[in-house]
Amino acid sequence: MTQTKMPALFIGHGSPMNAIDESAFSKQWFKLAKKLPVPKAILCISAHWETKGVFISSADKPETIHDFGGFPRALHEVDYKVKGDAKLAQHIADLVSITHVKLDDKRGLDHGSWGVLLPMYPSANIPVLQLSLDRAAPNIFHYKLGEQLSALRDEGVLIICSGNIVHNLRMYKFDDSAGYDWAEKFNEEVKGAIISGEHQRLIDYQNIGPEAALAAPTPEHFLPLLYLLGLKDDDDEVAFFNDEVQTSISMTSVIIGL
Ligand code: ZN
Repeated sequence: MTQTKMPALFIGHGSPMNAIDESAFSKQWFKLAKKLPVPKAILCISAHWETKGVFISSADKPETIHDFGGFPRALHEVDYKVKGDAKLAQHIADLVSITHVKLDDKRGLDHGSWGVLLPMYPSANIPVLQLSLDRAAPNIFHYKLGEQLSALRDEGVLIICSGNIVHNLRMYKFDDSAGYDWAEKFNEEVKGAIISGEHQRLIDYQNIGPEAALAAPTPEHFLPLLYLLGLKDDDDEVAFFNDEVQTSISMTSVIIGL
């Protein structure tokens, strides 16, 4: 049976509260999920799982990890009761040749994953796996690993890369919503490079301009975007959604192949 090629997503996840607040962002996530083909499984690559080497979650029932503090109790009580898929985890590990992907049957889902999946798939009826970010790997590694995962799109797996193009929590202003000039500039540069297919420029994102050091002071929220670029085929359409910068965080999200 031929399977239609799954689109793939980069989602700017922002505050964990988007998981339970009906924000403009999470409403978009919900609407988008309705437009997508129903996936066989979901593979999340989240900013919030950094490891030495690369791991894939293989728990039958991955727990909901509340990897944040200071939020309302309702958020801490979220339990996204979803299944994993150990067989698929092994298949993904076998598919990757750039590194040895190790299975982790203890790891649950962090808020970079369930925080977007809860609004997208509230019935939690699609198995979810997570792939970790190797914190020691060079930028190009993440792009190439994305390329090696692209076969999964033909197998009905929805790949969600979850981070933020601009992510500087230290400079976030709670009493304002307008994006900083440097944040808007970096976001626009990145969008432009995505549209024009300048992948090498994005792999070397630290050199995009002086604003890069402010926009991505640490790599983990930007790196999921490199997986999406690696997953992209030449004929995939690109579209943006939730395209908004809020002070020092960009919610800009990207879909390919829809
Ligand atoms: Zn985050």
